[in-house]
Amino acid sequence: MSIAVSEIFGPTIQGEGALIGVPTVFVRTGGCDFRCSWCDTLYAVEPRFKADWTPMSADAIMAEVHRLSGGRPLLVTLSGGNPALQPLTKLLELGHAEGYTFAMETQGSKVQDWFALLDHLTLSPKPPSSAMAFNRSRFEACLAAAGSRTQVSLKLVIADEADYQWARALAADYPQLPLTLQPCNPSPATPEQPELETDTASLNARLRWLVDKVTADRWFNARVLPQLHVLIWNNERGV
Ligand code: SF4
Repeated sequence: MSIAVSEIFGPTIQGEGALIGVPTVFVRTGGCDFRCSWCDTLYAVEPRFKADWTPMSADAIMAEVHRLSGGRPLLVTLSGGNPALQPLTKLLELGHAEGYTFAMETQGSKVQDWFALLDHLTLSPKPPSSAMAFNRSRFEACLAAAGSRTQVSLKLVIADEADYQWARALAADYPQLPLTLQPCNPSPATPEQPELETDTASLNARLRWLVDKVTADRWFNARVLPQLHVLIWNNERGV
């Protein structure tokens, strides 16, 4: 069974969430069951880019990861699109046999048995500003599939007050999950404008607003983080 791959790049660092700053190679899969209003990876989402996605075997992906990492096992980040749409069992087994570890981020709309083979699973259900609906039963099925070995964390993107209130309510239902809040990039690159510069002033303003909200609410189990890669490399792709 082949895996649709949009790009493989690195080593670089993880730019967001619970593993921010950790050296990693990214495997970005192609295809997503969502179309969030502010998606910054449309080239890995929209069917019009399907011709750019390469069907690869698990062996071929691991060979490329191996080449990029110089054969030194490190964290492999599975991103998308929605990587949960792909058959990843063999990739995880091959990588683990060589000492690699795996982290994956998904919105929690698709459940797979192989979630239990991941080392880290970031669930990132989308807030109201995305214009996507939250499906609680699927989210909880993802949690159940991850089991007890996989480290699960919650990452919530916040664009406005409605998102913030939604995040407060959702996170309160899952106090056992480490939580990261991330301000939404106000100027994500699009396929039409791949070189679009991030509006850093607006991003910083959103970050300050979010920090002020969290501290005023004494929401002390929330960690507030920007997307580090956006601050370092702007909207550049594959870094
Ligand atoms: S779930 Fe992620 S990859 Fe899919 S459309 Fe939304 S932001 Fe983009």
